[in-house]
Amino acid sequence: MLPLVTRFAPSPTGRLHIGHAYSCLLAHDYARERDGTFLLRVEDIDPGRARPEHVAGIVEDLSWLGLHWDGEVIFQSHRLPLYAEALERLKAMGLLYPCFCTRTEIAAEIAASASAPHGPDGPLYPGTCRALSDGERTRRMAGEPHAWRLDMEKAAACAGRLYWEDGDTEVQAEPGLFGDVVLARKDAPTSYHLAVTVDDAAQGVTDIVRGRDLYAATDIHRLLQALLGLPTPHYHHHALLTDAKGNRLAKRSGAPALADLRANGTDPAALLTDLRSGRIPAGYLAAGD
Ligand code: GLU
Repeated sequence: MLPLVTRFAPSPTGRLHIGHAYSCLLAHDYARERDGTFLLRVEDIDPGRARPEHVAGIVEDLSWLGLHWDGEVIFQSHRLPLYAEALERLKAMGLLYPCFCTRTEIAAEIAASASAPHGPDGPLYPGTCRALSDGERTRRMAGEPHAWRLDMEKAAACAGRLYWEDGDTEVQAEPGLFGDVVLARKDAPTSYHLAVTVDDAAQGVTDIVRGRDLYAATDIHRLLQALLGLPTPHYHHHALLTDAKGNRLAKRSGAPALADLRANGTDPAALLTDLRSGRIPAGYLAAGD
């Protein structure tokens, strides 16, 4: 058996809140209870939203909680050549195409269409740039910013039927529901889906413990694993913490930042004990939540 490896992979786009602490705790405990390794990977590939002060905040908050990771912190922004290599392989397989559309153009095209299909993340990309000729692509690539999209129909046909495991349940992947996803953005040479798939394999992650909000996206990750010849980890998607009204925790709905709890004297060990019960500990949410 492979040594068990889990990871916590936050994006440094804001301060961690109690929902992040819960997810991190579950991934941490899963490894520690099985004599495994627990890694911390900072997913800082979004140039518009990732902030150095939030990276520092993640390290401070997890250290305060007493959730210790093994080895060095990995930063996705330091690993761009790895993602570029994967992207080149998919290009060479004829599965990617450059997309020049702006958000506004995509929204206008969707609004103009009588029946725009929707996927788990909203309306699907209408495929405008899939139809461009090779000549037009080459001409426009020379002067226009472009993303790279996966030709989902071709990719799914190439990979065939795929499955992954969530806990003890076998799940059939349906990546086609997402349409032609972006694998390299205009403003970043990769995307969440590509980077997370490449890194989990490169870091030997065997078990992915993360929130249920990423359950559907796993179908895309499974497809990319198949196309790139990477192993498929076991997945353990956990329920998201909710407030008393059943709303998902978010900073704007009153979930306190861990930094605020630290500042107001919260005992981190007691917080972890409470979170291990799988509920939001009483008294941690703003009044009225
Ligand atoms: N970076 C992602 C997030 O903060 C999580 C990635 C993952 O666990 O796969 O939502």
